[in-house]
Amino acid sequence: MVNKVKTFFAEVKDIFKLLVSSSKINTLLLILANILSGLMLPLEMMVWKYFIDSVVGAIATKDILSPVYLLCLHYVVGGINNYIIHIEEYFEQMEVDYVNKYVTARTISKTAKLELKYFDQKENYDMIQKVNMESTQRLINILSMTMLFVRNCVTLAGIISVLFILNGWIILFCIIVSVPSAIVSFKMSRKQYEIFNSRLEDMRKIAEIKNILVNYENIKELKIYRLGKFLKEHADKLYEKFICQNKEVRRKYAVNISLSETLQVAILYLIKLYVVMQVIYKSMSIGDLTLFISAIDNFQSCISSIFRSIIKLYENGLYIKDLNYFLNLPIQDVNTGLAFNKEFERIEFKHVYFRYGDSEDYVLEDICFCIENRKSYAFVGINGAGKTTLLKLLLRLYQPTKGSITIDGIDICNYSIIDYWKNVGAVFQEFIQYPFDVKHNIGFGCVESISRIDIIKEAAKKSGAIEFILKLKQGFDTNLKKGWVNSTQLSLGQWQKIAISRAFMKDFPILILDEPTASVDAKTEYELYNRLKTLISDSTCILISHRFSTVKLVDTIFVIENHHLIEEGSHQELLEQNGVYATLYNMQAEAYGDDI
Ligand code: ADP
Repeated sequence: MVNKVKTFFAEVKDIFKLLVSSSKINTLLLILANILSGLMLPLEMMVWKYFIDSVVGAIATKDILSPVYLLCLHYVVGGINNYIIHIEEYFEQMEVDYVNKYVTARTISKTAKLELKYFDQKENYDMIQKVNMESTQRLINILSMTMLFVRNCVTLAGIISVLFILNGWIILFCIIVSVPSAIVSFKMSRKQYEIFNSRLEDMRKIAEIKNILVNYENIKELKIYRLGKFLKEHADKLYEKFICQNKEVRRKYAVNISLSETLQVAILYLIKLYVVMQVIYKSMSIGDLTLFISAIDNFQSCISSIFRSIIKLYENGLYIKDLNYFLNLPIQDVNTGLAFNKEFERIEFKHVYFRYGDSEDYVLEDICFCIENRKSYAFVGINGAGKTTLLKLLLRLYQPTKGSITIDGIDICNYSIIDYWKNVGAVFQEFIQYPFDVKHNIGFGCVESISRIDIIKEAAKKSGAIEFILKLKQGFDTNLKKGWVNSTQLSLGQWQKIAISRAFMKDFPILILDEPTASVDAKTEYELYNRLKTLISDSTCILISHRFSTVKLVDTIFVIENHHLIEEGSHQELLEQNGVYATLYNMQAEAYGDDI
């Protein structure tokens, strides 16, 4: 129990750190406005009591002056309260903007820094999605609930002082009668969080289905396969499942909360009867009657509201717990380590084994090979053999499970990752189509040079992309997403050239190409690699391709089969060996003739 309380307070502290970090001054002013706003209700109640008493007195004395003064005072207090409410609203809305900005920045930055291995584990992946989907809204809910809590606590303190004059026990009664409905609501929140967690995968599926439907590139396939109806029905089924679960939980909640609230109201009316008796038998004034009755009503609504805000805080806090966990996930130290030596002699894979996450099966087993500076290499093998995984290890996106990768005898782990990445150009088959214009899509290859149009143009020249870019109406300023101002839709082959230009934004001693030209025709790919060969004669080039016309251009070919390296040599040597490479080559030669 003590530990639970400790953890709760530690979590509350973390949440407030997040809120305050969004904007210190605004948060402070917001809290202040809420404290003032909380004071106004008891003040108004007191003025109203004196007003009623003065009216009762004036019936005998016929002196209207004091009721008029008190009415004016009530008007002034009400007016000030109004101002405070608007000021408080202003700070709260501003705080929402600051929180949005701050949390979005932190989650983007953290997601970008997380190691790839975190995305491979389902629980982590779910959590990353959950945090990105929910955190900002939840934090904003926490903010408004906290402010409601502060306001109500101040009001409650005022009302308690009033009720204390009447009878201290009444305060205790009022608190106790609110407990059952608080428990019911608390259980409901817990249940809702559990349901939310169990639905994450389905919710992600619905979001992805919607994304597929609104993506321009997908429309042709969806229409031809007439998938709209199927996808709609699939989403319908998922929603029906959600509705069924919700119905049951909400029905139960509605019954329980109605019962507990009926009991609560009945007890409150007994307390009000006690006040009426005090007026009749103990000569309390009519002003006292209005004061105590409204104190009891307001006390009750304050207490309910405080309980509600605690429950909502708890409910939203459950999601923020995930955000805090996510923000505290360890990130790689990418800066410290040796500087990369561009003049390295060889990179060596020494008995490298690798498996993903918790999987028991190795994707790579006992891999040994050597890459020499300024030479070109290709990995060949059927899909799923492990070629991309090898490149991921070389790119240091993962670490070998066993064995080591060394550069001139020094383990690759000893080099600063940032420095290493700065020296590697990489183009992947699943490259990103950024929702920016041409110059950004190329410039992202080296963010430090993002405003250097001369470097961007040179990169586009090297990949051959310049030819179609110059034909675009807005040239390098053309937006590359359908439906944007000054936008166009590129073909996949053109997109691939843009992705290759990105790699040319910097001078790299190592260039890694993972089937980035799978969508261009064999002739264009061949021409591109021929051009690349002269352009990067000073670099080490490592590629994966299924096209033997390209593969045969490299110095050394590695053949991967069933997670092992089974053949190694030049095109000619491997043909002479008449092994797996020769079989694959001859199969393609038969199918495409001289075209390969
Ligand atoms: P290739 O590039 O030769 O087609 P990959 O290296 O992409 O092969 O994949 C090798 C094996 O590793 C495949 O069985 C694939 O399913 C598995 N694999 C790839 N990525 C992951 C991942 N992130 N998590 C788990 N398994 C993966």
